[in-house]
Amino acid sequence: MKVKKFSKKPEDFKDRIGAKPIVCYPNKKLENENLGILHKARKYLKKIDEVIVSPRDAKTFKVKTGNFFRIESIEGPQVGDLNLFQADNLDEKFYSGKTRALYGTHISVGDKMFSCFPYLRSLATITWDTLDWYGYDKDGGSVHDVIGTRCDPYTSKLISDKDYHYCCHSNLTRALVKEKNLDINNAEKIVHDVLNVFMLTGFTNDTKQYFMKSSPVRPGDYLEFFAETNLLGILSACPGGDCGSEHSSDAAKCYPLKISIWNVDQKYLNGIKLSEISSYNRNHGLKE
Ligand SMILES: [Zn+2]
Repeated sequence: MKVKKFSKKPEDFKDRIGAKPIVCYPNKKLENENLGILHKARKYLKKIDEVIVSPRDAKTFKVKTGNFFRIESIEGPQVGDLNLFQADNLDEKFYSGKTRALYGTHISVGDKMFSCFPYLRSLATITWDTLDWYGYDKDGGSVHDVIGTRCDPYTSKLISDKDYHYCCHSNLTRALVKEKNLDINNAEKIVHDVLNVFMLTGFTNDTKQYFMKSSPVRPGDYLEFFAETNLLGILSACPGGDCGSEHSSDAAKCYPLKISIWNVDQKYLNGIKLSEISSYNRNHGLKE
């Protein structure tokens, strides 16, 4: 934390501060050309499957290219930690850091969930968000962040010296072991930083530390996505519940989450441009 200052201010410090911020990744080129079509298409969605995730546990789900999925609050306020993989190649997975660099700390309608290198394409586009009215509050807090990682037993051990087995990292790992019959070590390695669905977070103004507050989500609220490739998703119902007090323990009241999969007659998706794997030639300056 940059709270203590050990170094002496240089004499020319006034010349070095106060520069205008420049957005690192101007995202004009990322404007979602599909959104108009998707908003029309979503009026004709038909539900084809449903998965209920128990509190302090995770479940996998599959979504085919061109289908939609929703993560919905049921019974009570609950935060969900989402992992996304390309279903036929688990090496291609969600890249929260680059998605954050492109869109900012929290994502909503029209934003795309990008995959890791060397793929860097949109795995899914957010098509509806019943909490988009929240915007940013006076503390800079908002919902659906890509700044947190996922609660995990290692950090919990580091901070509280307790062994706790139902953090989102462990829940996601267990679900992946079951789904893919993977060795626990291999499963754990490909669990990745999440989209924190419904979680209300930000950075404190003074120390810029990651904070959370009670989520404004209520039963019936949902976040909806359009799958741009075949997806394997895993959703954990975080042990923090609405994340208004603590996580990484059994203390918070937790509720289940619902995942629903929807399809739509392909005629409503005419004109959609699905994202493609990066065309960078992967030379990296090594080849002639
Ligand atoms: Zn969690």
